Amino acid sequence: MFATQDTTGGTAQAADTLTRHDQHGRYPQAETVDDFRHNLATVQARMAAACRRAGRDPASVRLLPVSKTKPESSLRLAHAAGCRMLGENKVQEAFGKWEAMQDLADLQWSVIGHLQTNKARLVARFASEFQALDNLRVAEALDRRLQAEGRALDVFVQVNTSGEASKYGLPPDEVQGFVQALPAFSALRVRGLMTLALFSSEAERVRQCFVLLRRLRDQLRQSAPAGISLDELSMGMSGDFEIAIEEGATVVRVGQAIFGARAQPDSFYWPAGGPDPAALALP
Ligand SMILES: *Cc1c(COP(=O)(O)O)cnc(C)c1O
Repeated sequence: MFATQDTTGGTAQAADTLTRHDQHGRYPQAETVDDFRHNLATVQARMAAACRRAGRDPASVRLLPVSKTKPESSLRLAHAAGCRMLGENKVQEAFGKWEAMQDLADLQWSVIGHLQTNKARLVARFASEFQALDNLRVAEALDRRLQAEGRALDVFVQVNTSGEASKYGLPPDEVQGFVQALPAFSALRVRGLMTLALFSSEAERVRQCFVLLRRLRDQLRQSAPAGISLDELSMGMSGDFEIAIEEGATVVRVGQAIFGARAQPDSFYWPAGGPDPAALALP
């Protein structure tokens, strides 16, 4: 099984890049447009440095700012600082923000969290991108609603690369069969794969999740049905996006390093307690 072989391919020189999960909960709040400009520039500089280490073109990696839990006023500052797409984890919250910010006509929305079938109708109305597709009932519901709205949606298939029962996403060995079924849903434009890595201060274990996603993508590309493009790899967040870029990320989803720490613990967003608190302890 490809998941466990050759763990270092192409990345030996970057193998000591550390996670920044120790920063978790400590990012200062961005309160002005200048704060946002500064944070965006800092994140972009870190992204560019990671690209240089990996011999990649910085233009090949997109930054998706994640605004979940933050109030409308913060999102407006982020927009003023140049953000044109925002990631939100909960559909209801995202839909409310979209409704409140209709005046910002150039602002697009990416839903990056688990979706229940009964909320597909909301996503079909306002989102440009959905990154957490992991079951056919949701694909079917989205497609039906999108057809009714006369819209299309970019989608990423979410894969559980950490093996944690608490994480959503398909087990790696079910992704191929799943992707084969997607051409039936013509309003879904399949772009690639998405994952949440293990939440750990151990960089090597985090890196394994990203390596697994990249290899899976490379393997699936050879058998992908016509019309299904698997170019994108959405992986990496505030604590680990540099490692993700070293392993091939084309989209990094960054919240706290841009917006500031969230008040709610991550267990509010990820089921079954979210990250293991022991993993946060510094050595
Ligand atoms: C919240 C979230 C992120 C961003 O996490 P940060 O630690 O704020 O960078 C990325 N991906 C998903 C799916 C999320 O829910």
